[in-house]
Amino acid sequence: MGNKNVLIIGGGTAGLSAAVELAKLDIHVDLVEKSDFLGGHAIGYTCKATRNTCVKCGACMVEEKLNHTISNPKIKTWTGSRVRTVSKNGRFTAKIDGRPKYIDPDKCTNCRICFDRCPFPGGILHGYSPNNIPYYAINPEKCRYLKDKSCGTCRDECPETAINLDATSTEYTREADAVLVATGFQPFNPEDKPYGYHRFHNVVTGLDLERMLKNAGRVKRPGDDTVPQRIAFIQCVGSRDSKRNHLWCSKVCCASAMRMARRIKDRQPEIDITVFYMDIQTVGKDFEQFYKDAREDLRMVRAIPGDIYEVEEQNLKMNVLDNTTHETLEEIFDLVVLSIGITPGKDNGKLAELLHLKLTGSGFIESGDNAASATNTGIFTAGTVRSAMSIPETIASAGSAARQIAKYLRPNPS
Ligand SMILES: Cc1cc2nc3c(=O)[nH]c(=O)nc-3n(C[C@H](O)[C@H](O)[C@H](O)COP(=O)(O)OP(=O)(O)OC[C@H]3O[C@@H](n4cnc5c(N)ncnc54)[C@H](O)[C@@H]3O)c2cc1C
Repeated sequence: MGNKNVLIIGGGTAGLSAAVELAKLDIHVDLVEKSDFLGGHAIGYTCKATRNTCVKCGACMVEEKLNHTISNPKIKTWTGSRVRTVSKNGRFTAKIDGRPKYIDPDKCTNCRICFDRCPFPGGILHGYSPNNIPYYAINPEKCRYLKDKSCGTCRDECPETAINLDATSTEYTREADAVLVATGFQPFNPEDKPYGYHRFHNVVTGLDLERMLKNAGRVKRPGDDTVPQRIAFIQCVGSRDSKRNHLWCSKVCCASAMRMARRIKDRQPEIDITVFYMDIQTVGKDFEQFYKDAREDLRMVRAIPGDIYEVEEQNLKMNVLDNTTHETLEEIFDLVVLSIGITPGKDNGKLAELLHLKLTGSGFIESGDNAASATNTGIFTAGTVRSAMSIPETIASAGSAARQIAKYLRPNPS
């Protein structure tokens, strides 16, 4: 099938995994990713091994898929790009818009000089995996050159002359025999919950904590850079929420929060950690033992707190009605972590329109050609664009989509 080509939209766990599987089947891939970096949400997750023992969080699996993708000559990646139109006349023709490539990946050595010397905070972004080349990107929202041409420090100091701040957008056209939509999810935005996210410095999301642990290895309070003594995790933020019609369970948050909490205890045992939950979602065959061990390290309270207030020293106060003891507890923590859920991707509506796919009642994209009711359109889906799922489930979904695509592309025996 060396002459077949698949267009994959989305370069997260699902897109990378499907690309690797398709390449193994001798199928060429164009992988279009809208952000500057490959890997999606999960490339920012930390390894959660405790006592040097793997707890199967899946974070390293994403790094491995990224590594295989960038080293595979059958996979061409297009970061900072979006599919504008797709038409079908026998094959698919996709018109793709690429943002300016200010940093030339062929010249960049990831030396970090641009990042260190940029005088404007946030002017240079970096990814979460050094396997992304470049690992750095110019942030058009903060770059002073792009605003008024008053700075060119990164360009002037780059020893490889890899930076061209006058680069322009590009448009390109790719032909494909099938399309895979792997555009993932959008994390729930908890700003309008009464928990003070973005109002109180020491309220963060699970995603923020993942990235803090990946970057710095240890947990600190964003408000004052001190080590917290009491951390609360609040589960089901934005999931199983009938007021928002988010009736689904995000499936990954219980295990993810407990793994992060235990990883913190492993390295910073002096920190007390409480997890407030509705129910615990079990995942995987070893979960019972994992949960039993977790209860030894963590205080588990079956209750979801009401409003959070900031009190002295940027600490956080909350009232909680414990569903087991029926007692009202007043609790004070110095860091609160909101276990935000998985919600439908921002672009789902547009993509559904572009590719004639259907949305589910919740706003995820229906399965496309890999559904039981395959319609032979040549358009497939994989990963959390379809529903909430974990990294291993996403990889399995991408593998299954790749096999369905190979079946669809196989020439009919004559
Ligand atoms: C807080 C939190 C913690 C989690 N922790 C764990 C854990 O410990 N273990 C675990 O197994 N799972 C965990 N998960 C779930 C995990 O994040 C997902 O299973 C995984 O990221 C799904 O990958 P994906 O490729 O489907 O989506 P994504 O990671 O969302 O990737 C989609 C990619 O598509 C790109 N994209 C979107 N729209 C477009 C477009 N129009 N054009 C081009 N590109 C586009 C995005 O930029 C992104 O790179 C967690 C989830 C959350 C919210």
